[in-house]
Amino acid sequence: MRTDFAHGRLADPQLRDADAILRACVHCGFCLATCPTYLLLGDELDSPRGRIYLAKTMLEGGKPATAPAVKHLDRCLTCLSCMTTCPSGVHYAHLIQQAREHIERTYVRPWPERLLRRGLATIIPNPMLFRLAALAGRLVRPVARPFTRLLRPRVRAMLTNTPRRIAGPSWVDRPQVIPAEGERRLRVVLLAGCAQQVLRPEINEATVRVLTRHGCEVVIARGAGCCGAILHQLEFAERAKALAVANIRAWRRELEMGDLDAIVFNASGCGVAIRDYGHLLREDPEWAAPAARIAALGRDVTEVLLELGLRSSVLSEMRSVTYHAACTMQHGLGLRTQSKELLMQAGFDVWEPAEAHICCGSAGTYSVLQPELSEALRERKLAAIAATAPSVVATGNIGCITQLSAGSGAPVMHTVELLDWATGGPQPPGIE
Ligand code: SF4
Ligand code: SF4
Repeated sequence: MRTDFAHGRLADPQLRDADAILRACVHCGFCLATCPTYLLLGDELDSPRGRIYLAKTMLEGGKPATAPAVKHLDRCLTCLSCMTTCPSGVHYAHLIQQAREHIERTYVRPWPERLLRRGLATIIPNPMLFRLAALAGRLVRPVARPFTRLLRPRVRAMLTNTPRRIAGPSWVDRPQVIPAEGERRLRVVLLAGCAQQVLRPEINEATVRVLTRHGCEVVIARGAGCCGAILHQLEFAERAKALAVANIRAWRRELEMGDLDAIVFNASGCGVAIRDYGHLLREDPEWAAPAARIAALGRDVTEVLLELGLRSSVLSEMRSVTYHAACTMQHGLGLRTQSKELLMQAGFDVWEPAEAHICCGSAGTYSVLQPELSEALRERKLAAIAATAPSVVATGNIGCITQLSAGSGAPVMHTVELLDWATGGPQPPGIE
């Protein structure tokens, strides 16, 4: 794609990156067929190619973002399906990140939108606040149920996604070192995260059990927390960077103690953010190098388990599992086979729904910010999953678990909960 940046603008290294990304696009349009919003809306401006043009126009001239451009860019799920499809290697993720930062700097959103975004950015990364908000949602939901269709779509989405059960803080979320069972084979840091601790604390507990059972010493580092992905999506770029720096500082301490083999995450959405820390902080003279080092150590829990080799399954009966590939897992991290392979090794009969490459509509805070599109994608995904008649649905990202649980006939689990069960852990709640 030919670019025409205003004179002098390419002195900015960020814009030079954007220029290189834009020039890689050859307008072929292959990406349109795999873009969920283009599938639903059929509008070129709601396709990757259309959004690339919108970003180009904004960034080239440096003019404030316009309301129509913001509308179409906001509808992007950042599912990165377009990156998997693109034959020219266009790094759409970094381009949309720059476009969002430009919107943050130059566009004033209506005040209710600003308030909502600020509220989400304050509550979600803080487990204590998020737990309180979820409890409030639980109290309101039964009262609001008869009026569900009358509620504003965003309020409805928040209530729909409120978990049925809200557990207290889990023992694994505190800073600590959990020793390996038997001989230590690896020493790993586990990202305890933020929202997942509230929505489903069983995931971190199962992750710790399965890792220690396979010979990992697991460190929950003091000072680490939210990965920053949600804040970046909500256009709080500096706060996202501050969270990234806090994590890097905490994990660097562990790295300096020696023998740190991996930074393990069990939410692929967080994994994409961590693996991108080097790029996020590339202009920071103090943190660029440590960020790149930490990013290189980031591993999804399934990658670690595959390398270690899964223990023999203790399950007596084979169950069918439908595996839903989170977009961040398959398109963001490029991990397309690992979870399925592990589930098969653990003795499950693994199925995949049709349109496995298409997003379920969760996408961080998308389900709240774009409730109609999110709901349409959820229904489409649930129908595809139901066609496989699963006894359980497995996936590797808490956002997808929350999104699909709100309408699935079968329990929706994290892959690691099933792997833990199959190798000697407790039966996950919800499975009969
Ligand atoms: S990230 Fe997903 S929603 Fe956004 S343009 Fe690419 S395919 Fe479409
Ligand atoms: S597939 Fe790649 S090169 Fe083709 S239009 Fe889409 S982003 Fe551009």
